Amino acid sequence: MCGILAVSGFRDAIQDLYDGLIVLQHRGQDAAGIVTYNNQFHLKKANGMVRDVFHAQSLDRLRGPMGIGHVRYPTAGCSSEFEAQPFFVNSPFGIALAHNGNLTNAKELSRDLLHTDFRHLNTTSDSEVLLNVFALALQKQRPIKLQPEHIFRAVRTVHRRCRGSYSAVALIGGQGIVAFRDPYGIRPLQLGKRKYGMKEEFMLCSENTVLRPLGYEFVRDLLPGECVFIDRKNKVHARVCKRGHLAPCSFEWVYLAAPDSILDNVSVYKARIRMGESLAPQIRTAGIHIDSVIPIPDSSRAAAAGLADKLKIRYREGFVKNRYIGRTFIMPGQALRQRSLHFKIHPIELEFRGNNVLLVDDSIVRGNTSRKIVEMARESGAKKVYFASASPPLTGPCPYGVDIPTTEELIGSNHSIEEIREMIGADGLYYAKVEDMVKAIRVGNRKLQRLCTGCFNGRYSTPDITKKILLQLGSNRNVTRETGDAKEEEEEGARAMTLI
Ligand code: AMP
Repeated sequence: MCGILAVSGFRDAIQDLYDGLIVLQHRGQDAAGIVTYNNQFHLKKANGMVRDVFHAQSLDRLRGPMGIGHVRYPTAGCSSEFEAQPFFVNSPFGIALAHNGNLTNAKELSRDLLHTDFRHLNTTSDSEVLLNVFALALQKQRPIKLQPEHIFRAVRTVHRRCRGSYSAVALIGGQGIVAFRDPYGIRPLQLGKRKYGMKEEFMLCSENTVLRPLGYEFVRDLLPGECVFIDRKNKVHARVCKRGHLAPCSFEWVYLAAPDSILDNVSVYKARIRMGESLAPQIRTAGIHIDSVIPIPDSSRAAAAGLADKLKIRYREGFVKNRYIGRTFIMPGQALRQRSLHFKIHPIELEFRGNNVLLVDDSIVRGNTSRKIVEMARESGAKKVYFASASPPLTGPCPYGVDIPTTEELIGSNHSIEEIREMIGADGLYYAKVEDMVKAIRVGNRKLQRLCTGCFNGRYSTPDITKKILLQLGSNRNVTRETGDAKEEEEEGARAMTLI
């Protein structure tokens, strides 16, 4: 997953784009980029956090009343800075695009683009493929005066050719902003508006946590298969280009999204509370004595609060998270990940000494974090350490852009719950059930009939997901990771040498 943003207004958009990306930083810390337009494109993108990529000088240069932004989280592509987004093509009109998701047929598409459509790609990124498919579909219509119909037709072609997940925003030079969601609405995309005198300015964003702090009011989620075009006079045109079946990623509610976001009419915070509550019956049945329920910060706080409430056991903060270290899993490469894990969380010892504690996390992925945390709780004097995961065991990878490891790396894919309990060193281990997690999300919006639960039980949103695609995804991922690790080790070596 990544974070995307677009602004269409009447004054320089850069402040909103920059601030908006800061608010969306939790969706990716690997690279950031912004493109604006005022009779000319202005682009700045690089690897790093938003605050490190943009400085006063670059912000001053990024002029114009419309623009798009992106924070990247490395998935199928590599984490080189050439793959930072937005991507740009100069024809037709000049189009910049930022993408959240992952195309599952990117390889075939890039072959076709090269050999049949004579479009050359500069990177291995599927987002560049998406941009080229869209640009080509627009170009083929030879639009001299661009109309919304041209855009909708081009997005219809994207829907026909591209498989997988794609929420995208694009800036067409001198024409306006385009935003579209794949026919399953796997990744979120929302529209907000703000008054400017008698007129209205618009923002499109991955999550509505961005809107209120920037003075926008939430309008609505884009529908699956829908395209919104905001023309240069700031008039909004919308069309469902392909009738879809909403089946968004459940992991957005488990972990990815900010707790104050509301996605497809379901509050992330409330869904997490309900996921925690759903664990209560199994823990009661286990008949264990617990003194306090302790969340593993930050994403499990709501679940732990819900669970503690239901169990009528006190909720306590037992860990302090160093807020200046990013989410460790987003950092590419194992070496960097393991090192930062040591610094990330510190125990508050007096909450553990002599107590039986129930630690709650949103998920267990590889099991490294849980093992370390259980160890910390014991070192801090806990008598018994129980562990609960607010989501079910992760058993498969994600073809739609969440950096979930290959099946072999997932502790839940090849071990029983009892084996995992032993591996993480807990006295008891409790997982939410898939149906309880789904229910916890769906209570917020009964119309949400389907959710992607592929990484939990193999039920992916799109029908094209085969074993072969998942295996291919795994091998791409390993190549990317190995390259990342090797590079990090090299950099570590270089750093060590400088210190000597
Ligand atoms: P681990 O089990 O050590 O891989 O780490 C699990 C922790 O990472 C949990 O606390 C989750 O909050 C968080 N996490 C969530 N999603 C992912 C992911 N895609 N990859 C790795 N860790 C994740």
